[in-house]
Amino acid sequence: MLRRFLVPLMVSTLSINIAYAAEEVVVYSARIEQLIKPMFDAFTKETGIQVKYITDKEGPLMERLRAEGANTPADILLTVDAGNLWQASNLGLLKPVQSSVLDANIPPHLKDPEGQWYGLSVRARTIVYNKSKVKPADLSTYEALGDAKWKNRLCLRSSKKVYNQSLVAMMIAEKGEAETEKVVKSWVNNLATDVFPDDTKMMEAIAAGQCDVGITNTYYYGRLLEKNPKLPLALFWPNQETSGVHVNISGAGLVKHSKHEAQAIRLMEFLSSETAQQMYAEINMEYPANPSIRPDPVVAKWGSFKHNLINIAKAGELQASAVRLMDRARYK
Ligand code: FE
Repeated sequence: MLRRFLVPLMVSTLSINIAYAAEEVVVYSARIEQLIKPMFDAFTKETGIQVKYITDKEGPLMERLRAEGANTPADILLTVDAGNLWQASNLGLLKPVQSSVLDANIPPHLKDPEGQWYGLSVRARTIVYNKSKVKPADLSTYEALGDAKWKNRLCLRSSKKVYNQSLVAMMIAEKGEAETEKVVKSWVNNLATDVFPDDTKMMEAIAAGQCDVGITNTYYYGRLLEKNPKLPLALFWPNQETSGVHVNISGAGLVKHSKHEAQAIRLMEFLSSETAQQMYAEINMEYPANPSIRPDPVVAKWGSFKHNLINIAKAGELQASAVRLMDRARYK
């Protein structure tokens, strides 16, 4: 269905622009339809501006933007992980947005310093543990998961996932390569099993007793707990005495060759506002990027925590270094 939609969209770009230039925004989204459509519908209801969108993985969407160049119908790129947004800006696919609304709604560590992209929801990557085997007092920091007491007790998701690349990149930003490499090697040394293809399978292994502790994005924990309320797992907020919990974003950037710039900025501003931020919080159990909006009650029960405040753009800048470092550490 997606493909059928794409072809007419591309062929009729010119006519769309002429006929509806003032009333539409075209979004290329790496977030799936069920996560974005409710916000787009609310935006259209409030402003009368139609939102057209296609969804695909971030790689193909960026490749499409690059290939389409000045002829692209896209106005906004929407995706998860600052590493991906940084790539898009590094490829010259985006342009800076100056907006007092976005600046007021989104904290400085969650946006590109040049305004090429803005975080719209926060995703915390934190420690998860088996409650029957681990006490919260046994835990402290990400780094300490490399301690000898966790030998053969740690499970991790693959280093191929951008979430772990961003986590390690932000560690490099904080403590440098040599120190970070020691930490990653100590994790690898403590692994109880091969790495997992996703956070959910990793948590299922912890619940099944294959290992006792791991690192996950909290919304996967929320989804798993919804399916199985008896799951013997809990979250722990690490590094509260030091650098804070690693947070990443889903976010958006204005496409360099946007033909509906004012409408696109209006949509980005809307997505940072109270209505849309509450929807983000409810729909995917993420944290609002706008600090004046409270998380969903289910999420709020997991407790509040201190963020790592280093600008998340570093996750992109240091991604290649992180990948090489994890390779050296034999983190698969
Ligand atoms: Fe995810």
